[in-house]
Amino acid sequence: MSDINEEYLRKHFPECMDNDKNKVDHYAVDKLLWTASVEDIKSGYRFDFLKNKYVCLFCGKEYERGIVFPFEDLLFEAERAVQNHIKIIHGNVFECLVGLNKKFNDISEVQKDLLKLFYKGLSDKEIVEQQGGGSTSTIRSHRYKLKEREKQAKVFLAIMSLLEANDSSGKSMQGILDILSQSEIDSLINAYLRNNR
Ligand SMILES: [Zn+2]
Repeated sequence: MSDINEEYLRKHFPECMDNDKNKVDHYAVDKLLWTASVEDIKSGYRFDFLKNKYVCLFCGKEYERGIVFPFEDLLFEAERAVQNHIKIIHGNVFECLVGLNKKFNDISEVQKDLLKLFYKGLSDKEIVEQQGGGSTSTIRSHRYKLKEREKQAKVFLAIMSLLEANDSSGKSMQGILDILSQSEIDSLINAYLRNNR
């Protein structure tokens, strides 16, 4: 029976054979994160409308909608199957996201450790006790800095969304203007004016 289980896991979950929870494929994350919403990122997967598939954001594994997937003597539809996959292969989504490398998550190691303790619901006093030193005011200061980063990230996201919305109307022209020098732009305008007199 153990052989059958191992064979099943090797076939369906090759990534879990190395027993490395919270493991992520940063190359897949790089490709998939770009088109994922914040809500998708929080769940660890997104639905790809073109492929009609649910995709794990941490490794790119796909589950086609309309197909059932067996797991532990039960059958699961695609969305439940991708949720099972994340739980088994990657573990906790919060820890996966916190553990992403600097390209996706430029948080210091100290703050990453603290975030994991905050997530567990520990108070500042309990964190100081667990760390065997420090002060509650230092922990409070980290909480404050993290909230500041959240505000900055929201503003940056809004800026980039506005830029993208603006780009869809004038992208090609902007691209041309970026390439041409000012004198080339002037001569193009003069030529346009000459031809349209
Ligand atoms: Zn995965």
